[in-house]
Amino acid sequence: MYDNIIKNSNKIMIKIGSSTITSDDGTIDKEFLDNFAMSVKYLMDHGKKVIVVSSGARIAGVSTIGKWSRKEDIHYKQALCAIGQVELMDSYRRIFNKYDLHIAQILLTKDDFDSKSRTLNIRNTLFTLLDEGVVPIINENDTVSVDEIKIGDNDMLAAYSTVVWGGDLLILLSDIEGIYDKNPSENSDAHMIHVVDDVEELEKKISIGKTSSFGTGGIATKIKAAKMVNKYGIPMIVAHGKTRDIIKEIAEGNKKGTRFIPKEK
Ligand code: ADP
Repeated sequence: MYDNIIKNSNKIMIKIGSSTITSDDGTIDKEFLDNFAMSVKYLMDHGKKVIVVSSGARIAGVSTIGKWSRKEDIHYKQALCAIGQVELMDSYRRIFNKYDLHIAQILLTKDDFDSKSRTLNIRNTLFTLLDEGVVPIINENDTVSVDEIKIGDNDMLAAYSTVVWGGDLLILLSDIEGIYDKNPSENSDAHMIHVVDDVEELEKKISIGKTSSFGTGGIATKIKAAKMVNKYGIPMIVAHGKTRDIIKEIAEGNKKGTRFIPKEK
């Protein structure tokens, strides 16, 4: 049954982590993006609707302007996101166009999910774009989001967006193959967990280490995201984004990543 996870999902949300979208030098990883665009096309050719949540604006901002990487001032961070968001979307647009795909930018804040009328507008815009074969690319609107009103990490932004959309599956592409019982970058004996059917139990069992340098939420927010979507009966997969054709591999039933299966499924 687990192998059919993509086959049974018509509405798929895919979140790309910062370390997946960028290369080691902080520029957008064009090779990854090309392979990802091809995978989105593959899913769409199989009748799926796809929404992307993409991180990476701040790192792209640093590599674009070539300064401020160490600034802690919130306004500089927001300025970097504003600069990098353009670079990010420009890369998505150019590379998705190669596969005859149009993209659309959607910037959201926590307030948008707290308001019924805004949520309705988000849904209607998403539905219109998807009906017309356009791929929406969501990110947090960092210009207006200071810490107190931030969703704070794109794992949760992706979870909220999946629920509002009424998605069938959330895939988080990260720099890690899946969830381990302890941080694999600090423990060579860490074991990957393939299937989780009880997130609360998992939380008690595993130890959560630090995130990668540009990661914002780490594993804790991925577990929080799983809890949220699973509550709505939606499964979630955490998988390694830079593995070539990872989406295809999952679609074709190769057991990659960690799958969070909601209890009632
Ligand atoms: P992303 O930018 O893709 O959201 P993060 O850097 O925020 O990713 O989180 C992934 C990182 O979390 C991994 O690279 C790993 O070093 C770290 N990590 C800590 N604890 C665990 C664990 N128990 N299992 C897997 N990864 C872990």
